[in-house]
Parts: sequence; C-alpha cells; structure tokens
Amino acid sequence: MTVSTSKGCIIVTGASRGIGAAISLGLVRAGYTVGCLSRSGEAPQVEGATEADRSQWFSAKCDVSRPEQLKEAFSDVVKRSGQPIVGLVNNAGIHSQGRVENIAEAEFKNVMDVNAYSVLAASQVVYPHLLENKGGLIVNIGSFFDKLGIKQHLTYCATKAAVAAMTRCMAVEWASKAIRVLNVAPGYIQTDFNREMIEKGPLGEFLSKRIPAGVPGNAQDVGQLVTSLFVLNSPYMTGETIYIDGGHGMLQ
Ligand code: NDP
Repeated sequence: MTVSTSKGCIIVTGASRGIGAAISLGLVRAGYTVGCLSRSGEAPQVEGATEADRSQWFSAKCDVSRPEQLKEAFSDVVKRSGQPIVGLVNNAGIHSQGRVENIAEAEFKNVMDVNAYSVLAASQVVYPHLLENKGGLIVNIGSFFDKLGIKQHLTYCATKAAVAAMTRCMAVEWASKAIRVLNVAPGYIQTDFNREMIEKGPLGEFLSKRIPAGVPGNAQDVGQLVTSLFVLNSPYMTGETIYIDGGHGMLQ
C-alpha cells in the first residue's frame, strides 16, 4: 500500500503556462498535490519540472468563467488526486487594451467574466471543501494596475480592482470559518501575456528605465511568493493585497 505524504490538493486556475505554471511547480515542491485548470487542459509548461513534480499535477480543462465547467473540473481533479482540497489560487486571466471611447460591451463583459467573476465562482465551488477541511487559503492573482489609472487599460484595471475588493469582502465574511483570502498583485512579469510587447516593442526599454528593480519580474518570482503564503500558513493574515512589482507601484 502506498501511503500519501501530500499536504492536500490546491486548485490553480490558468496553470498551463506563465505564472500559474510557476505557482504549480512551487506548490508541488512544497508537498502539495495540484489541480491544474486551464482552457486547454494542458499540464503546466514550466522549465525544470521533473517526473516526480508531474506525478503530483492533475490537469483538467475548463473555462473559468463558466461555473458548471468549474464544478466538473474541481470534482474531476479531487477524484483523481484522492486528496482533500485545502486551497485555491485564482490565477487565470486575460488582457484587454483599447481607448475608452472604443471599448465594446461584449469585450468588457468577457474580460470581467474571466478575470473577476471567475474569482467569485471558483471560490464558491471551493467553499464547501474548505469548510469540510476546517479552513484553508484562497490566493487571488490581481495586478498592481488595481490602484493605477493606465491609458487604454480601463477594462483590465477595472477587473483587477474588483479582484482586490472581492478579496477583502470574502476575507471578512469567511474569517470566522478559518478561510483566509489574499490578493497577490504583480507588476510587469514576463510571460506570454506581454512577451511580444516587452521583447519586440518599446515596452521593454520603457520598463527597464521605469521599474526601480531595472527589469520585469519572472513567473518564478510570483510562484515563490504564492507558495510561501501557503507554507507560512499565517492564521491571522487575511484580506490583504501583497504587491510584487520591483517597486514599480511606488512611483508617481
Ligand atoms: P498567460 O497568458 O501566460 O497565461 C494565462 C493562463 O490563464 C493560461 O494558463 C490560460 O490557459 C489561462 N486562461 C485564460 N483564460 C482562461 C479561461 N477562460 N479559463 C481557464 N483558463 C484560462 O498569463 P500570465 O501567467 O502572465 O498571467 C496570469 C495572471 O497574472 C493573470 O490573472 C494576469 O492578469 C495576472 N498578471 C500578470 C502580469 C504579467 O505581467 N504577466 C502582471 C499582473 C498580473 P490556456 O493556456 O489554456 O490558454
């Protein structure tokens, strides 16, 4: 008989690439089993992952903006991993850019659904699991854009401000159940999300001058921070937004 040494299952949305894949790697190395959800259902694409890491990933396909698909994917990974759910990372997100006067209703609503509504929907799905487990941690991935006014980014900024607000509201409502909710808000992190703009466009040069740290961050920086929040398991810390932006958000 194999005795499992896993600390339980953490669901990570948007786990196939970028920040979500780095978070998934950090969590398996910290001893968790990870339910990796994404549109494609692919296992995390992340450098350095070994067979042992991969054996603790259970991937499932779902559109996070569709609650029925979220429910199906959650129960599928729970069944396959054989572990109780002890946490959730709401990481899946998409970008949107355009002048205020041109933003179309359908585009605004779709980005709101994927970036913000999914945080509520996935947290509602995980809630009974965390109650059964007598508590747990939900980490939302916001953005340092949540407190900024950026030209041509109204929709994206609005979704990430909503994520920070939902983090606070969920935290106060669920604190008495020992369910904690935190918001990790990255600055520029080089992933598929913005790779072309940073590598080929003027953004790279602009950022190297603008970011106090001198360079954009990488997915592992965020993966490490999120993993440490689960490992630290600080019982009195909830509702906070933690910025990870190389000092960028400090500038006027
Ligand atoms: P990537 O574009 O590299 O990866 C996005 C991930 O989200 C993929 O796994 C993708 O799945 C998944 N995804 C997108 N839409 C859906 C959906 N409808 N349902 C399920 N999965 C979906 O992005 P990053 O890793 O850069 O970003 C991750 C998070 O970090 C996002 O919330 C983003 O807003 C936030 N963030 C990123 C920053 C950056 O500079 N990169 C800065 C601040 C915040 P698939 O592979 O199947 O398409």
